[in-house]
Amino acid sequence: MTGSGKFFVGGNWKCNGTKESIKKLVEDLNSAKFEEGVDVVVAPPFVYISQVIDTLTDRIEVAAQNSWSGKGGAFTGEISADQLVDVGLKWVIQGHSERRHVIGETNATIGKKTSYALSKGLGVIACVGEKLEEREADRTTEVVFEQMQAFADEISDWSKVVIAYEPVWAIGTGKVASPQQAQEVHAAIRGWLSDKISPEVAAATRIIYGGSVNGTNSGELAKKEDIDGFLVGGASLKGPEFVTICNAVT
Ligand code: PGA
Repeated sequence: MTGSGKFFVGGNWKCNGTKESIKKLVEDLNSAKFEEGVDVVVAPPFVYISQVIDTLTDRIEVAAQNSWSGKGGAFTGEISADQLVDVGLKWVIQGHSERRHVIGETNATIGKKTSYALSKGLGVIACVGEKLEEREADRTTEVVFEQMQAFADEISDWSKVVIAYEPVWAIGTGKVASPQQAQEVHAAIRGWLSDKISPEVAAATRIIYGGSVNGTNSGELAKKEDIDGFLVGGASLKGPEFVTICNAVT
């Protein structure tokens, strides 16, 4: 842990769940005991956000998985940051690899969505990460720094930004990055922040790891100096395992 503030664990539920399964997940989270030193955030699908806000303990904050790049209006299928704030959300995920590589969002679009969300007072979980072929071609930091630059072009205040390093090859594959592999990229991102933004921002910003984190591998990953938390997909749908991951804070 290097970034200031608490260890940060986000549960990204993606496009999963039903009213019934989410009710059970919320009950599990409500009855769990979390360590003091961890911020816990969950990101349900949009249609279940109200259900979660109404039933989830205040100990856990709620995020959206995406938001539009400006005020609402004639944008069919989109949700604005203003609306997220209106229903009580504190966070939004931007630049998740599934939005980049499945939906086709560009660095520039993601930057715009991020700056608008920040301007409305939301915290942003800003995701970066390389594909397998990019890692194999030794282009990991080049790709990640390019994604970082696109965020930096649009961010003036970093105090509500959490960076999630999520190698695409590790997401939903069961192939977790080794603690050393993750640490290397986290340290590189922190170095980039120090050079391009400021040493203060580099020291204060939390950099979390995502990609096949589970109850078994989270303990070793959490020990690494530059790993300040996790963004968890699959394992965040299992209440008790997600709690174990949150409590991996050392
Ligand atoms: P995973 O997803 O934990 O299922 O690999 C992580 C993420 O996409 O944030």
